[in-house]
Amino acid sequence: MEISVIGAGVSGLSTGIRLLEAGHSVHIFAEKVSPETVSDTAAAWWYPFLVEPLNKTNRWSTETFYELQRLSEEEGVSCINMRFGREYLEEQCEPPGWSLEIPHFRILEDEEIASGFSFGWELQAPVIEMHLYMPWLRNRFLDLGGAITIGRIEDFTELPGNIVVNCCGLGGIELCDDDSMMPVRGQVVYTTQDPGYGRFDQRPESLIYTIPRRDVTVLGGTAQLGDWDENIREEDTELILRKCESLWPELDRSKIIGVSVGLRPSRKEVRLETELISDRTVIHNYGHGGAGVTLSWGCADEVVRLVKNQ
Ligand SMILES: Cc1cc2nc3c(=O)[nH]c(=O)nc-3n(C[C@H](O)[C@H](O)[C@H](O)COP(=O)(O)OP(=O)(O)OC[C@H]3O[C@@H](n4cnc5c(N)ncnc54)[C@H](O)[C@@H]3O)c2cc1C
Repeated sequence: MEISVIGAGVSGLSTGIRLLEAGHSVHIFAEKVSPETVSDTAAAWWYPFLVEPLNKTNRWSTETFYELQRLSEEEGVSCINMRFGREYLEEQCEPPGWSLEIPHFRILEDEEIASGFSFGWELQAPVIEMHLYMPWLRNRFLDLGGAITIGRIEDFTELPGNIVVNCCGLGGIELCDDDSMMPVRGQVVYTTQDPGYGRFDQRPESLIYTIPRRDVTVLGGTAQLGDWDENIREEDTELILRKCESLWPELDRSKIIGVSVGLRPSRKEVRLETELISDRTVIHNYGHGGAGVTLSWGCADEVVRLVKNQ
């Protein structure tokens, strides 16, 4: 089939690759491409964060986990690396549903829990270096025969092909008149210091993370609902550093080399469904909130299944 995909973020490129692999002809139309998409700012640690519905996102995340691991270990994609991370919690709770699906997940011993917390767990999961991974996705898409045109789409009916797959991220607010979406602003700080393992407090109201990549560690974060400001704020940098110091007292501020901001495409639930618009089949795949990388391959495979059912 001839398929148009809207969007060249991690969702659009991963979906485009899977559709090409399934034998379709795919053309991506995107207003912005790497390095200017939200996906380029992602930290990016595999972790289902700020995303629903859990019964589906647990499955999509698990599928993505194993694909990222496969790319790293079997295809030698060097910008994906398995790293350890510890999440700290104020109260004991049930481990998340996906914890049963991944190879390394354990509850922390009392002496391993950071001061101020009473519970926690450790997992090993992929860390993805997005400034390298996004070009890698684009090249794979092009090598498989895909095409990319830069430009803004105002109406689904203006696109060629039998099916449109809509991976527009936050663009869904205007393109789909979707008022259940909003930006959740995230600021991050980059340091060359390595914490050894990642440290996390994933409650959106406090949100702390130190994500170790090979080149830098990404320090976060903020999760500011409905905030469209893409400018760096000094007060947020200070807040992030103070929060990270509480989990990582050895943090050395002289090693900081940059700051960045992105707007998470947040929605009550990921929208992954088929809609008929003016006789055109549109498959939506947007609204991945704080977990678009974590869900990317699982959602891409789901789109391929929906296309097959047409
Ligand atoms: C600070 C921060 C840290 C994050 N950390 C993580 C993390 O550790 N792990 C994780 O899994 N996720 C993380 N995320 C979330 C992740 O970045 C997003 O969920 C993901 O990037 C969404 O990808 P996407 O492809 O759906 O959207 P985007 O990357 O926003 O791409 C949307 C695409 O659609 C195009 N588009 C939109 N409207 C139109 C239109 N009308 N016409 C044409 N093109 C259009 C855009 O130009 C763009 O190409 C983080 C986000 C932020 C901001």
